[in-house]
Amino acid sequence: PAAVEDFLASTHPVSPTKAYGHPAIITQTLSSYNPTSLDDYLNQGGYQGLHKAFELHPELVMDAIETTGILGRGGAMFPLGNKWRYTRHAPGEPPQKHIIVNADESEPGTFKDRFLLEEDPYSVIESATLAAYTIGAENGWIFVRGEYPGCYTQIQAAVQRARARGYLGNNILGQDGFNFDIQVYLGAGAYICGEETALFEAIEGKRGFPRIKPPFPTTHGLFQQPTAINNVETLVAALKAWTIGVDNWNAIGTPESPGTKLFCLSGHVKKPGLYEVPFGITIGQLIELAGGVPANTQIQAVLMGGAAGVFIPPTKLDMPLTYEHARAENVPLGSGVVMVFDGTVDLRPVLYQLARFFAHESCGKCYPCQLGTQRQKEILEQVNNGQVTPQTREALLDVGFTMTQTSLCGLGQTAASAVTSALKLWPELIE
Ligand code: SF4
Repeated sequence: PAAVEDFLASTHPVSPTKAYGHPAIITQTLSSYNPTSLDDYLNQGGYQGLHKAFELHPELVMDAIETTGILGRGGAMFPLGNKWRYTRHAPGEPPQKHIIVNADESEPGTFKDRFLLEEDPYSVIESATLAAYTIGAENGWIFVRGEYPGCYTQIQAAVQRARARGYLGNNILGQDGFNFDIQVYLGAGAYICGEETALFEAIEGKRGFPRIKPPFPTTHGLFQQPTAINNVETLVAALKAWTIGVDNWNAIGTPESPGTKLFCLSGHVKKPGLYEVPFGITIGQLIELAGGVPANTQIQAVLMGGAAGVFIPPTKLDMPLTYEHARAENVPLGSGVVMVFDGTVDLRPVLYQLARFFAHESCGKCYPCQLGTQRQKEILEQVNNGQVTPQTREALLDVGFTMTQTSLCGLGQTAASAVTSALKLWPELIE
């Protein structure tokens, strides 16, 4: 329906990043220099982190990064330190290791990586180089979402400038024996290619189908070689934490969730945009930072984590944004989506749009998701048209349960999570 599409279309970022009670760290150099000028980045303190790393053995850098407690910020929340350590110590004598920057940012409501790629491309390149030094990789890849041609152009040009100045290539910055270069790859517009193994298949020139795991990417990734694949924000957060000093990073946030995190505020807030906040502030405080909801309205629901996330009711706005609370409450934080719906919104068409999205993006490799996403869309289309029977609710929950339990990859396993969460919170949606 046009009203819903208008609403979703109105959620583009317009405000600059802001920290909450702390100076920005991940976004410290975002928009602070001319992204077409490497010299500008250097004048902002760029590459201090890499110089600092070169003074230490990679194992010591890895030990320090591990203490930052950074978890994957693409959605999966896997510990960064473990991923790097497993890749560095992959068994055998592999000829090559890879570091991949997963910039296939496609979760509806997410736009944080786009800001970093367009406004701070050298931090992305420096962070990938730091990761390569730490895990012993020679090959770097930046996989950019097909719908982000601006990011692709910007990062591609930045890579070329870095290479021309000796920040990529052989013996980087005079570091004898440290060879690392980056290829930038533009996706073809498939959400599934954000899934790490489908992304490998795409780079290898095959259809973007997820692989069955194990084996895992840290030992059998791109071209079946050890691979550390990280989200853009994850890598930049690691670089900035390392550059300011991990003790300084760990002094922010909570003991279990140190540092800061980017959140993408959209929907019914006065100032939608990208916000950097320390872990520990509440969802309500974050929404207030974005100006709160417009006058004379109230929050009806907040979609956390995007289409693959969950809805929460206004009574949960006092939940602190930390990994420990996210796990306890089963609220995903990784992709940073906070989409606010005020009381004027009919959530039924919203659920239908979410279902339509997954039905379109399912890759079709496994039946529970191939059929389940279609069936979920059909049922919600009927609901949207007022065609509800006594079996409708049970059918939706049944389809959702089957997809969640039996699908091959994360897409199918989360395709029903937002819908199911809404049905449980607001049973009156289907009556
Ligand atoms: Fe493809 Fe969906 Fe199966 Fe994932 S769960 S492999 S997206 S059909």
